[in-house]
Amino acid sequence: MTQNIEQEKKTLNFIEQIVEDDLNNGLNNGKIQTRFPPEPNGYLHIGHAKAICLDFGIAQKYNGTCNLRFDDTNPVKEDVEYVEAIKEDIQWLGFEWENVYYASDYFQKLFDLAIEFIKQGKAYVDEQTSEQIAGQKGTPTVAGTDSPFRNRPVEENLQLFEQMSDGEITDGKMVLRAKINMAHPNMHFRDPIMYRIITTHPHHRTGYDWKVYPMYDFAHGQSDYFEGVTHSICTLEFEVHRPLYDWYIDQFATSGYRPKQREFNRLNITYTMMSKRKLLQLVQENLVSGWDDPRMPTLCGLRRRGYTPEAIRNFIDRIGYTKFEAMIDVSLLEASIRENLNATAKRVSAVLNPVKLVIENYPENQIEQLTAENNPENPNDTRQIEFSRNIYIERDDFMENPQKGYFRLFSGGEVRLKNAYIIKCTSCKKDENGEIQEIYCTYDPNTRSGMPEANRKVKGTLHWVSAHDAIDAEVRVYDRLFNVENPSEMECDFRELLNTDSKRLLTNCKLEPCLKDVKPLERFQFQRLGYFCVDYDSTANHLIFNRTVSLKDSWKK
Ligand code: ATP
Ligand code: MG
Repeated sequence: MTQNIEQEKKTLNFIEQIVEDDLNNGLNNGKIQTRFPPEPNGYLHIGHAKAICLDFGIAQKYNGTCNLRFDDTNPVKEDVEYVEAIKEDIQWLGFEWENVYYASDYFQKLFDLAIEFIKQGKAYVDEQTSEQIAGQKGTPTVAGTDSPFRNRPVEENLQLFEQMSDGEITDGKMVLRAKINMAHPNMHFRDPIMYRIITTHPHHRTGYDWKVYPMYDFAHGQSDYFEGVTHSICTLEFEVHRPLYDWYIDQFATSGYRPKQREFNRLNITYTMMSKRKLLQLVQENLVSGWDDPRMPTLCGLRRRGYTPEAIRNFIDRIGYTKFEAMIDVSLLEASIRENLNATAKRVSAVLNPVKLVIENYPENQIEQLTAENNPENPNDTRQIEFSRNIYIERDDFMENPQKGYFRLFSGGEVRLKNAYIIKCTSCKKDENGEIQEIYCTYDPNTRSGMPEANRKVKGTLHWVSAHDAIDAEVRVYDRLFNVENPSEMECDFRELLNTDSKRLLTNCKLEPCLKDVKPLERFQFQRLGYFCVDYDSTANHLIFNRTVSLKDSWKK
């Protein structure tokens, strides 16, 4: 496994191969410039991380630059809140842009270019409805139909486009279309829309200055060209747009320089929904607590869940970049954070569903210091923990009458308490409902870790917290947000596919006192239970932890 990963690292991904070939051929005098172009209409998700690692990674690897460009051409959905969040998430992931640009920086330039297109007879104002236009598109094998407005005179087009941009025309009543070829085998060439009217929403940067806004295809390649991008990397669904991307630039370029669009497979993960539109819906309908709900696939959600930037980057590195759409098992993402935290997280003791256990032969007021390892990778890194007569163990670590194969504590049985002694259960007390209230045990004083008797064979080892100094906490146990492997491909409403058991609140947890001063986002391994991270809502008086991931992959379908 390790060897495979090392080997993979030595081979280039196909985009790196393209870049190296271009460098070897002296393209653009060896200059490499990329961009990461999010639309500020939502928070970044783990799919964006895949694009970020490639856009910034290529620039780093080949001594180039990568800019952050906000693709802000649709004021209806965009907001400064998203701009700020996107910047924060990119930096958290560990990348730094050279410049911040906005497609809206080029609104005037693009508008002037559109006028130029009209003057050259390459664009016209269409007054049909969007339904009529769609109805004339044809199919890949059947040519489309010309708009009745296709051949209106240049002067008329100029005048109407001015009226559109002056706010004299209602939204949706007219569009500006490129005049290319309604029979083109590539449907994107069948007179694509260049501009539409939007007067109802202010733009987050230009307010109500503009009444017409460029479409993605008319804005993206031009922006790349204006900035000097050499490699414009995007996801596969844009491959069919590439000829149009090139065509637009060819119409006005004054030199031989051309940005190259290249496409890779987008990230899809099982039990996960990645569309920003649907994530926004989850937020707006309060089906999650916000964009940073720890169950969300957003970078801020993963951060709050306890993911580290290293774990996310390693995951992206392992899945790699190809030309084929695929579905990645979410357990691969979970394995990467497990691996990362296994190496770095401090081991502590926490009892999430406590039941009291009394060690009857342990002196009433005695408190003893025991040594516990902080991380087995480093045996010299230890701390002292206190042991006493009353402790807490997990409720499900005890069964009065054990089932076959139950190796934890039961009446008459023996277990080891981690870092402490071997204990034997003598009896238990139940309430009127049969629920266990207290467990009674004796301990063997010769079995403390390090003593000769300590190696005596017992089957189970339990974690525990001393009752006299335990602190209280709330723990939020998260699971997958969706019940089905591929929620995006299901026919039904995606909200019906939500896992109703994806968040469990445990409000009566008992922790070791070394956790009393923790700060948000600190991460720990709760022994035998999993990895946990301090939530933003946590305070000194009310500690809150989020479960990042269980210790082992135990998810059942
Ligand atoms: P969504 O469909 O989730 O709303 P988007 O593609 O509209 O995402 P953008 O803000 O336009 O989101 O994306 C910015 C960049 O991130 C683009 O280059 C896009 O190709 C890339 N990207 C978006 N989603 C993924 C994904 N799932 N995997 C890889 N790259 C992605
Ligand atoms: Mg988009």
